Amino acid sequence: MMDKPIKRIVIAGGGTAGWMAAAAFAKLLGKNLDVSLVESDDIPTVGVGEATIPTLHIFHRLLGIEEKEFMAATNATFKLGISFENWKDVNQDYIHSFGFLGQDCWACGFQHFWLKGMQKGIASEIGDYCPEHLASRQGRFAVMANQDLNHAYHLDAGLYAKFLRNIAEKHGAKRVEGKIKDVNLDDDSGYIKSLTLASGEVVEGDLFLDCTGFRGLLIEDALHTGYEDWSHYLPCDSAVAVQTKSTEKAVPYTRSIARESGWQWRIPLQNRTGNGLVFCSKYMSDDDAIKFLLDNVEGEPINTPRVIKYKTGTRLKHWNKNCIAVGLSSGFIEPLESTGIHLFQRAIVRLMQLLPNQGINQADIDEFNQQTKAECDNIRDFIILHYHLTDRTDSKFWRYCKSMPITDSLKHRMDLFGKSGRVYKKPDDLFGENSWIQVMIGQGLIPEQYHPIVDQMSDEELKLFLGRIKEGTAKKVAQWPDHLDFIDHYCKAK
Ligand code: FAD
Repeated sequence: MMDKPIKRIVIAGGGTAGWMAAAAFAKLLGKNLDVSLVESDDIPTVGVGEATIPTLHIFHRLLGIEEKEFMAATNATFKLGISFENWKDVNQDYIHSFGFLGQDCWACGFQHFWLKGMQKGIASEIGDYCPEHLASRQGRFAVMANQDLNHAYHLDAGLYAKFLRNIAEKHGAKRVEGKIKDVNLDDDSGYIKSLTLASGEVVEGDLFLDCTGFRGLLIEDALHTGYEDWSHYLPCDSAVAVQTKSTEKAVPYTRSIARESGWQWRIPLQNRTGNGLVFCSKYMSDDDAIKFLLDNVEGEPINTPRVIKYKTGTRLKHWNKNCIAVGLSSGFIEPLESTGIHLFQRAIVRLMQLLPNQGINQADIDEFNQQTKAECDNIRDFIILHYHLTDRTDSKFWRYCKSMPITDSLKHRMDLFGKSGRVYKKPDDLFGENSWIQVMIGQGLIPEQYHPIVDQMSDEELKLFLGRIKEGTAKKVAQWPDHLDFIDHYCKAK
């Protein structure tokens, strides 16, 4: 089994993860691989997952997806960041934008110049020095030659899966409809040999991708891979989601509003809004969560609210034997920074990069698992930061988050930034310096010191330097059209 060349890839599950994998494998490696996807019309997809981050461009470029076509097909809007409301404290907001702040120098980042400017009373809020941030606040957007805004999308997850299915089938992926009843293992190696469907049909393969959602039919039910539980760091374990008719203009950012026992999302699409409440069942019941969400949405609900239960954490191995978990089957980190689809895409691309030729070898498996673990650990720390670094003590939930134990790596990042304004650079960190800075400052961690090189500038020079960046940013952003007007024009233009 270990020595056989990989010729047949079987993808179990046809949600966002399954169709992303099928489209990528069929389009990029389909000449030499037989790609099939098994999904059941009787088992619905989870149906959420609509906010993305800019890395999706990499995936779309690989697949040759044209932005306008994708946006029209998925009712997408543009996204320049996330507005965090009530997170530092009630009625205190900030934006984590996808943009770069100001101008760095060789010795230190822009935050050091900004910090001294704030101390001297000659700087304003940090977002004034970042086009993506300012454009979010003003509801503007533009796509320009040579000067693209660093952007992502809000998309309709159901339409996105259909869009990817078209690509996958066009490039030869075969869809098999049916409910997986049994996962058959090889007696000697314990590798997966085939899937038996309720109809009796048997689907054989060499490599299996588990995209069956939270249950992890292959990776867990069949291979008993195990799970690392992170709920002591991230205690929310439930979400309720509902879609509403749009009543407001779609803003180019996701809204994340901290609530008494969790947080609420608002994701504006062209035609509707995705809403949800992530909450901790220890402090809030499902019924109270549904009621709270319905009381706090704009516009008429267009579907019935649905409660989703989960355990935050990660599979002990993302690749085990000849099975790779992609999607919710691989673990779950709540969607606070919209990292789900990114992790699916990374798993798919990483697997293609480490794809075995003759058989499967343990070194490739270990490399895949080690890279994935490092990436997930960094994202976990970034999410914990939002909960832990807060002034909120107004509920049991927030008092727990403020005092809960955190990882050593996050503690070091917070100490380093708090003391000296420096950002710890870790390998495999999805979120760069600009992200950590915006969230740490937004959550109220203002460094005690700035880098000494800033004092090379006189106060007058610093004022001119900061003023020039701020005015340049404001002037640039003022030229861009309204976000929705831009979409109307852009999606229609050939
Ligand atoms: P699913 O959508 O659950 O698909 C599972 C598939 O497996 C289905 O096709 C089903 O038919 C099939 N299946 C299962 N069992 C069987 C069987 N026995 N036989 C045959 N087929 C079977 N990610 C983001 O990037 N941004 C977000 O904003 C975001 N928000 C989220 C909010 C919540 C509340 C949750 C829970 C997740 C969110 N995610 C987000 C993560 C992720 O993007 C979505 O959850 C995504 O839709 C999950 O896709 P999936 O393909 O892994 O699972």
